[in-house]
Amino acid sequence: MIKEIVILGAGYAGLLCALEARKKLSPEEAKITLINKHTYHQLITQLHETAAGARSDRSIRIAIDSLIQGKAIDFRKATVQSIQPEQKQVVLSDESVLRYDYLVVALGSEAEYFGITGLKEHAFILKSVNQARLIRSHIESCFARYPYEQDPALLRFVIGGAGFSGIELVGELADKLPELAKEAGVDEKHVELYNVEAAPGILPGFDTALVDAARKSLQGRGVRFMTGVPIVEVSPGVVHLKTGETIETKTVVWTGGVRGNQLVIDAGFETEPRGRAKVNEFLQSPTHKEVYILGDCSFVLGENGRPLPPTAQLAWQMGSAAGKYLFQDIKGGVKVPFTPNIMGSLASLGRKDAVGQVLKSYKMYGKVAYMAKEASQVRYLAKIGAMFAAR
Ligand SMILES: Cc1cc2nc3c(=O)[nH]c(=O)nc-3n(C[C@H](O)[C@H](O)[C@H](O)COP(=O)(O)OP(=O)(O)OC[C@H]3O[C@@H](n4cnc5c(N)ncnc54)[C@H](O)[C@@H]3O)c2cc1C
Repeated sequence: MIKEIVILGAGYAGLLCALEARKKLSPEEAKITLINKHTYHQLITQLHETAAGARSDRSIRIAIDSLIQGKAIDFRKATVQSIQPEQKQVVLSDESVLRYDYLVVALGSEAEYFGITGLKEHAFILKSVNQARLIRSHIESCFARYPYEQDPALLRFVIGGAGFSGIELVGELADKLPELAKEAGVDEKHVELYNVEAAPGILPGFDTALVDAARKSLQGRGVRFMTGVPIVEVSPGVVHLKTGETIETKTVVWTGGVRGNQLVIDAGFETEPRGRAKVNEFLQSPTHKEVYILGDCSFVLGENGRPLPPTAQLAWQMGSAAGKYLFQDIKGGVKVPFTPNIMGSLASLGRKDAVGQVLKSYKMYGKVAYMAKEASQVRYLAKIGAMFAAR
């Protein structure tokens, strides 16, 4: 009998899973339904460029229809309301109910606010194309208002968090803010860009030499780092620091933490304290083997026994693996435990600059690292058949 596979989320993990499962399973063997709240696949790894205005939002949105064309994958634009594993069903925002034989949960992550007062209410976050557009238009409006209002807080920008996405955003802004100042006829010496981080350093997990190079490059472009300084509160127009200092600003972007998707917690899957689901070596829920939980929604351990950081690279590898596991569930065969193959990590620092480590220990800097990062993006687009897809 034909099996019903329902995939929630058409991000890196969900899309790759749908494509891989369909490559292996014929439409007579499995019906594949892909649910996503937008009609497009988002290139989240480039959101910081759009937020700073360095890349159009159209270029990082790819129509899902064009990616699954001719592949017999049913796409439904809908928001998942709840997952009910005991009933083997999901409820969508239009209250329709979808039953499944196999479920893939790939709904990504949410911002972690660590209970900091006012942060959720007064900070932007950078997790979707729409949020990136909002940040870009807000920053542009700050420059447009400054000549009339002369309020220094309009030209003071605070990025909370110095992890991967925070540093990438800081790098883009370090290049873009002087340009915006020039366009607005504002002296760029009035522009201040802060990166505030509770941990003692930036880019956790990166080698010291790479961290030093990143810091030097960004400081050289005027970035003011405040590391080891937790934000304790954000009130309208003011960031309050644990040191007792305050920063008056109209722009706070919070990149300081991610947690698993709330729908996964609400469904009753076992999660770790950050809300990411525990999965077995085949990426299945240990309590519901017909459910695969992938990407930022779940956590897997690396070689050193510590949880791997949530990345697009890991998400698409999980998606591909789960596509194969679904084939084996339906057609039989021996499953091989999921082994992530982390090829490296490259953080961009603005246009034409980056730092990173590839092939376990080979360090890259500057333009070469930047080009390697661009190349990895092109490889991803080729993998999902998006080189010439509609945007
Ligand atoms: C600014 C930034 C830069 C980054 N740079 C890198 C990088 O250089 N390299 C790297 O490896 N990683 C990077 N990351 C991390 C990486 O983007 C994530 O780890 C990756 O997107 C996770 O993939 P995913 O498939 O789990 O989730 P996502 O890509 O977030 O996909 C989840 C999908 O589910 C959909 N969805 C969510 N909720 C619902 C719902 N209720 N109903 C229906 N659909 C829903 C979303 O619209 C989305 O399409 C970066 C992240 C950010 C924010």
